[in-house]
Amino acid sequence: MQDKVELLKELQGIDQDLHRIQSSRKELGKERADLGANLDKVQAMVDSLTAEVEKLQAERKELTAALRQEEENVAKAESRLSAIKTQKEYVAVLKEIDTAKKLNKDLQDRIEAKDVEIDGLSSDRKEKEGELAALSEKISGRLDEIGSVLAGYDEEATGQTGQRDGLFGQLPVPLRKRYQLLFERRGGMAMVEARNGTCSGCNMQLPPQLFNSLYTIKEIQSCPHCGRLLFVLPLA
Ligand SMILES: [Zn+2]
Repeated sequence: MQDKVELLKELQGIDQDLHRIQSSRKELGKERADLGANLDKVQAMVDSLTAEVEKLQAERKELTAALRQEEENVAKAESRLSAIKTQKEYVAVLKEIDTAKKLNKDLQDRIEAKDVEIDGLSSDRKEKEGELAALSEKISGRLDEIGSVLAGYDEEATGQTGQRDGLFGQLPVPLRKRYQLLFERRGGMAMVEARNGTCSGCNMQLPPQLFNSLYTIKEIQSCPHCGRLLFVLPLA
């Protein structure tokens, strides 16, 4: 019988370790996800500013092309002036040139306005890129740390799980079920010491007969109050 008690104590110790590893793993996983989300947020701002700058640059390109076209039109019209025969036609071409020049001025103004906008957004983007680089540098060390701790946990958990399954397999099936259920429902304390006639799981007094029988009886007994499995340390 003592074998089964020792086996359960060892099993419970391993299960408690595995449980601790699992919680730490969960916490670190969450921390890692949060750090990644912060980085993604700043990256998204940089991406959005890049897209805006690109859009403005495309608009600027269109305006520039329109300006080149109008400048060509002005040059063509001006070259026609010398060949014009009538006053009426001359005035008409001058008017055409004047209109085109006004249009050009308007296009130039719009291009300059785009440049101001592009400069402003580019400097915003530069600032965000700096923020991103600093943040990335700051958290990359922590991410590496988390990665290696998690890898250590994986290795530890694999070894422990193998050992745990070996011990668990040695228990009679009904005891396995009782242990498992108690471990889950009683906060990882399925088996507890009975000391001075009391269950150390729930601190309730055990019936004296039950307590005394723990020293002699061959079956594992449960606390009548909390159901935990009981063991006693050998009398000194
Ligand atoms: Zn109890």
